Amino acid sequence: MKDLIEKYDFKFKKKFGQNFLKDKNILQNIVLKSEVDKETLVIEIGVGAAALTKYLSDSAKNVLAYEIDETLKPIINESLIDKDNVEVLYIDFLNSTVKEDIKKYNYSKLYVVANLPYYITTPIIEKIINDKLNVDKIVVMVQKEVGDRFSAKVGSKQYNSLTIFLNYYFDIKKIMDVSRNCFVPAPNVDSVIVEMKKKEKKYNVQNEELFFKLVRDSFRYKRKNLRNNLKNYNLDIISQVLSNYNLDLNVRAENLTIDQFIEISNKL
Ligand code: SAM
Repeated sequence: MKDLIEKYDFKFKKKFGQNFLKDKNILQNIVLKSEVDKETLVIEIGVGAAALTKYLSDSAKNVLAYEIDETLKPIINESLIDKDNVEVLYIDFLNSTVKEDIKKYNYSKLYVVANLPYYITTPIIEKIINDKLNVDKIVVMVQKEVGDRFSAKVGSKQYNSLTIFLNYYFDIKKIMDVSRNCFVPAPNVDSVIVEMKKKEKKYNVQNEELFFKLVRDSFRYKRKNLRNNLKNYNLDIISQVLSNYNLDLNVRAENLTIDQFIEISNKL
């Protein structure tokens, strides 16, 4: 990778979150732990110098990869010269028609595996969910603080509406911590690899839109309790549900489980 970056005089762009993984063991571990196999179509967001893409190509049936920075094209082309199961689209993933793009592929499993550009971690994951791609698994490298939020426990400082949104769809677990020294250039944060596996059993939510709105509104002002954050809701109903758990409207959103939010939203 270093040789290619020098050969093409590539200049890293901070605005695109370009911190490339240089540690071979980590790269291999990501592919190994994600259990990509020859029945899997992998979507990769952010190709960089194709370090991860190469390993993914060896294990996957196909890799469909997105890269916003066209100046990486010569490096990517040379890196992937002998890989015939990789397609690279030079577009902003957030504006892509990924649901259309995957239609031409045959696969039995759909995974997203990526070392994400950190400045848009949440929008990328939200797009994957909102576009209803029906991915079986997401394995991503993210900033440590963000990864901690994904799998935060109820009552902890990191637990927020994103935690609930993600845990509604996925079983989430941390795979490993990754030091900033494994990247070039080294970012000023540490990282974590997180696995999100599609939940086998869906929650019984009667109105998803209402459920997500309730969760977002409950967390709107972090310091405020439910009574203050949910002024526009039927507080009598909410209070009744809470009383089943010996709680009242003074409780803060961070102390409610996903099941309790579901119960409230189903009764509203
Ligand atoms: N996969 C490579 C690796 O592991 O070394 C590169 C990872 S680097 C953290 C993130 C990559 O995402 C960069 O190559 C960057 O140019 C690309 N990128 C940033 N924003 C993007 C976007 N909106 N759509 C697609 N790629 C993007």
